Amino acid sequence: MNGYDHLMTTSWEVTALSGVLGLALGSFLNVVICRLPQGWKVFFSSVFSRCPRCGRPIRWFDNIPLLSYLLLRGRCRACKQPISIQYPLVELAMAAIAMWLFTLYGPTTFFFLYLAFFSLLLAASVIDLRLRVIPDALVVAGCLIGIGGSLLTPLPGWTNAMAGLVFGLVVPLLVVSSYERLRGKTLIGGGDIKLMGMIGAFLGWQPLGEILFYSALTGGLVAAGYKLAGTPIRLPFAPFLSLGTLCALFLPGLFPFFKV
Ligand SMILES: [Zn+2]
Repeated sequence: MNGYDHLMTTSWEVTALSGVLGLALGSFLNVVICRLPQGWKVFFSSVFSRCPRCGRPIRWFDNIPLLSYLLLRGRCRACKQPISIQYPLVELAMAAIAMWLFTLYGPTTFFFLYLAFFSLLLAASVIDLRLRVIPDALVVAGCLIGIGGSLLTPLPGWTNAMAGLVFGLVVPLLVVSSYERLRGKTLIGGGDIKLMGMIGAFLGWQPLGEILFYSALTGGLVAAGYKLAGTPIRLPFAPFLSLGTLCALFLPGLFPFFKV
């Protein structure tokens, strides 16, 4: 129960519209993913996108989320080089997330807050996959939105959100630093810890233990798989933190206010 049950009956047209909003948001996220790690100067360099391969500007009709990728059959109009599959995938993922959140919450503060939350998680995951870093700007913005949002919504409440931010930062920091002192190697990076603080700012401190458990479990299984295959690699942890968050939110017996 979330107190918004009267808004649960939304027409399919409005839900489809939220999907279009998700596509546009995904398109913006692709810009964030590609430009933010290069600094603010690049981020604000131009409103027009360019093909990363030939550098030629992409015209507006070739920049329509999902549709342009399909019409161009995944190739740049100018140089015919393939366009990264990341673009349509991020757009599709955001469209799905937006429609699903809209069916859950309708046009409420929760909808916009969780849309921001999942956008930040997705952007952090893709950047971490590509570059093995999580930009501070992304996490700081997320912490501010999480704490700010907690003032507008009854759950988790701002005291819980603050506790989540502190727990997400302090507890993992203690675990990681003592592990490093004992074993002499790094467990997870500083960016992952900051991301956990951000998750706490959005969801409160209560689900953090479960999130960490599911993240470590899924990440550990994948890492073991790579090791068995004879190709051990340093995995990015942000995708697993996002996966762990989804598990903690939707597996049974957990976190009551997010439940349908
Ligand atoms: Zn090109």
